[in-house]
Amino acid sequence: MTKIGLEIHCQLTKLESKLFCSCKADYREFKPNTNICPVCVGLPGSLPRLNKKAIEKATVIAMALNCKTPQKIAFFRKNYFYPDLPKNFQITQLNIYGPTSIGQEGKISVEGKEIQIRRIQLEEDPGRLIYEGSSERTQITLVDYNRAGTPLVEIVTDPDFENPKQVRIFLNILSDLLENLGVSDPSLEGAMRADANVSIEGGAKVEIKNINSFYDLEKALHFELTRQQSLAERKIEIIQETRHWDDKRKITISARSKEEEEDYRYFLEGDIPWVVIELDIISRLKKGMPESISSKRERYIKDFDITSQVADVLSSDKFYSDLFEQAHDQKNAKEIANLITTDLMGFADTKEKRKESKLTAKHLADLANSIIENKITRNSSKNVLQTIVKSGKSVSQLISELDLGHVSDEAELSKIIDEVLKDESMAVEDAKQKPETINYLVGKVMKKTKGKADATLTLNLLKKKLA
Ligand SMILES: [Zn+2]
Repeated sequence: MTKIGLEIHCQLTKLESKLFCSCKADYREFKPNTNICPVCVGLPGSLPRLNKKAIEKATVIAMALNCKTPQKIAFFRKNYFYPDLPKNFQITQLNIYGPTSIGQEGKISVEGKEIQIRRIQLEEDPGRLIYEGSSERTQITLVDYNRAGTPLVEIVTDPDFENPKQVRIFLNILSDLLENLGVSDPSLEGAMRADANVSIEGGAKVEIKNINSFYDLEKALHFELTRQQSLAERKIEIIQETRHWDDKRKITISARSKEEEEDYRYFLEGDIPWVVIELDIISRLKKGMPESISSKRERYIKDFDITSQVADVLSSDKFYSDLFEQAHDQKNAKEIANLITTDLMGFADTKEKRKESKLTAKHLADLANSIIENKITRNSSKNVLQTIVKSGKSVSQLISELDLGHVSDEAELSKIIDEVLKDESMAVEDAKQKPETINYLVGKVMKKTKGKADATLTLNLLKKKLA
């Protein structure tokens, strides 16, 4: 049986400062090695100062993943040498004196299957190595410590996944959840990374590291499972090891035999005292938690009669569900949800386009109301929406500018229909014999009015005139 477990590293990108100093947590805008101080590069004599907000955000993640949160947390030093780790140890958490990491024993449901979250720990991100060319062939490796000390939450699952697809769905759910909590922006480069351990029946556990995108993770898992199965078929032993994902060649390559936990010589971080998390802090954090995606989804379906498909898409996208919340009232909610999911998400899809978009909640409400009040057809609303995103012009201005006014005036429409009936005498005879061909005439009226005619009214008038 295939068993896959995950270790997901997620940066708390919404925090102002790093985990143990006041350097910026968002290091991305800085030139290499300019967002650093004696603490984050571990100069002798520097002392860490724990970021209280990081503990709060990590605790919120733990609660959202249904974890138990301990009353006391402790930090440990994990000792190893690597050029991106200037202190030669990483400050992290370990549950050696009982459950002292930020959360444990959580669970999350993936298409009906429950995935157990073993533990969640808060730790510092190391620096970043930059290779010239590929990591395999490079002559030069550069190191940038701007990232060193960025608050990182590690989420460890049990080996509960049975296939790579489940892993991908889980990561999408997790990424939406973290974004919805307002703790992280998973779309930022390197904000969410995953390592995986993979084993098949009778084989040792192989760890795959270095995977930067969910897409690559799925590919890496497929590759690794095929490799292990092929070894097993040839009766070659699968050894316990760490393998790196080479995203240029799309294969995993042996990196080193896996260290045991005891190789890291963990010991308590003496510079940071144990932290007591009082119950009133927990209840304050719980109260401040945003509505979960699943409860939002249920509410949209129940309160506004939104289809489950639309509710799925809308609730899991924080940007657009926030916009929906600002824009809707009881009457136009369903129309706004449809406008967002069927049209808007199509042309304002990337982060950049969303940022540049000039559309406001008021635009959405006005547009939905115009559709409901028959001032504009659903058909032409797409065009209006697209123009608003670019120009920010008001809905009423665009309806007149683009000449989109809805023809729902009976007298006016009747006149147009009469003209069509005169031109289409053959089709009129057909429609009298075979009523199902009436749609041809509806189409002609639509064409004549450039899609502005009210479809129901057109059909009713046509039927009356042909009777
Ligand atoms: Zn610093």
